[in-house]
Amino acid sequence: MTTLTIKNLGVAVGDQQILDGVNLEVSSGEVHAVMGPNGSGKSTLSNAIMGKAGYQITSGSLELDGQDLSSLPTWARAQAGLFLAMQYPTEVPGVSVRETLELALAERSTHRIDVQSMLIEEANKIGLASDLLDRALNVDMSGGEKKRNETAQLAVLAPQIAVLDELDSGLDIDALRACAERIEVMTEEGLGVLCITHYHRLLDYLPADRVHILVGGRIAESGGPELARELEADGYARFVESDNDSEGVSVAIGGLSQQTSASQTELDDPFADPLA
Ligand code: ADP
Ligand code: MG
Repeated sequence: MTTLTIKNLGVAVGDQQILDGVNLEVSSGEVHAVMGPNGSGKSTLSNAIMGKAGYQITSGSLELDGQDLSSLPTWARAQAGLFLAMQYPTEVPGVSVRETLELALAERSTHRIDVQSMLIEEANKIGLASDLLDRALNVDMSGGEKKRNETAQLAVLAPQIAVLDELDSGLDIDALRACAERIEVMTEEGLGVLCITHYHRLLDYLPADRVHILVGGRIAESGGPELARELEADGYARFVESDNDSEGVSVAIGGLSQQTSASQTELDDPFADPLA
């Protein structure tokens, strides 16, 4: 049993505070979905968990089974059992996914593992063309191929806890189903998942035990799977409005967000009723 514990986490990039007091706990076998508007800090949370350079922890703690992660470099977090499927997987010219995984697994184990056969088996399960396994990692791959590739890596590496940052973006419906169902099998074998998504359809195949709504760098509400259905019907308005009561509201514009006052938001809205 492994538990990732995030307590009162604050994260800044440069002098911009992005996350402010996030609490989350993900244990083996559990699926926690994190949903939220563009720019609310979802990728920042995944980057902070993995220790991406530039994301400074300003408060709180990040622990795996009581071990502090915040002082560890990314490779050590991966060795401790964390995995991140990136929203925008990095292109690595000159290195194939097979070579990447051979190196990663050699670090973890003393006996040689037949990565090639494992990868071919996993690629078959999720419909990833096997000739991609020897091509440069993510270079000139379609969005769907990249996400299938991330899923194959996840299955071969078999971490304790996986963070999936919009695994569903760029995937067609069949690929989404294949990847999500493969990960669901892994959760039955003990994988814990923090699943960042905008859409319920991923959760149809990878059912969430808990759903958390991240707005303006804070968890605005947590609930059961029904919360994701509610969002699909009503959007984030309820949560963004409740954020209005504080000093400002986070407005997402094409993926960028900016802090504005509530009255400023109304002025900026070309459809706002001036008499309201
Ligand atoms: P989400 O994944 O929820 O759409 P992000 O975590 O990507 O949101 O971004 C949250 C906010 O933090 C945005 O305003 C974004 O511009 C800013 N941000 C995130 N990462 C960086 C970075 N490396 N440099 C500058 N700003 C960043
Ligand atoms: Mg994101």
